[in-house]
Amino acid sequence: MPIDNFLMRSPQDIDNTIVVGGLTPLTTIDYPGELAAVIFMQGCPWSCGYCQNTDLLPRKNENNIPWSYVLALLEKRKGLLDAVVFSGGEPTLQSGLESAIQQVKAMGFKIGLHTAGIYPDRLKQVLPLTDWVGLDMKSAKADYEKITGVKDSGEKAWKSARAIIDSGVTYEFRTTVHPDMLDKQQLSTLVNELTDLGAENYVIQHCVTTSCLDESKRVVTSPKLELAVVNQFRDKFSSFEIRNFSSS
Ligand code: SF4
Repeated sequence: MPIDNFLMRSPQDIDNTIVVGGLTPLTTIDYPGELAAVIFMQGCPWSCGYCQNTDLLPRKNENNIPWSYVLALLEKRKGLLDAVVFSGGEPTLQSGLESAIQQVKAMGFKIGLHTAGIYPDRLKQVLPLTDWVGLDMKSAKADYEKITGVKDSGEKAWKSARAIIDSGVTYEFRTTVHPDMLDKQQLSTLVNELTDLGAENYVIQHCVTTSCLDESKRVVTSPKLELAVVNQFRDKFSSFEIRNFSSS
């Protein structure tokens, strides 16, 4: 669709094609180096045991926050914010994502996207509009279903990873480690698959377990991966970061 047609779409048109589940007016941690607002899209078809965004998982038809409200808030934040991040839930679930991003981009904001890569074709549509993408890489391709609960989910995530690298957009691939769901060997296999793919920017973060979707995952029974183990992957990437790991 030509850009002019995107911009002519009314907020009501957009409301029919996206469902906003939440909004954070200001954050410093969701888009590296930028002050950003975060728009949380409602709905996700996967059921990762460690998911923290449980309120955002159910698909809903009604919009919690009208798109006109989102645009009005962003209008007031022009000059105060650098970027707007589309997060979730899974933002690529929304058929109106491309139009929504186009409208926000036209307001002068950089566009960030958090995704698990669940809908690679829609991701490919919006990649040219994005300035930075954070993609969750949950496990080696063959082990994905153990985390997401969904057959062939690894195929989709890895297809999305390929599309992001090929697009040339600035990106971060990141893996959340819950010790009961990803052990040292599985993490090593994942890292090898990522380097084979040509990934250069990678973050490994330890899971916060207090509010896991699967209540049985709130108590960790396996030993926490040691910082030294995680650190051994540092040399495999141009940019590598570890979050929430202690040295003990
Ligand atoms: S893909 Fe993300 S939002 Fe969806 S269930 Fe998994 S962790 Fe939660």
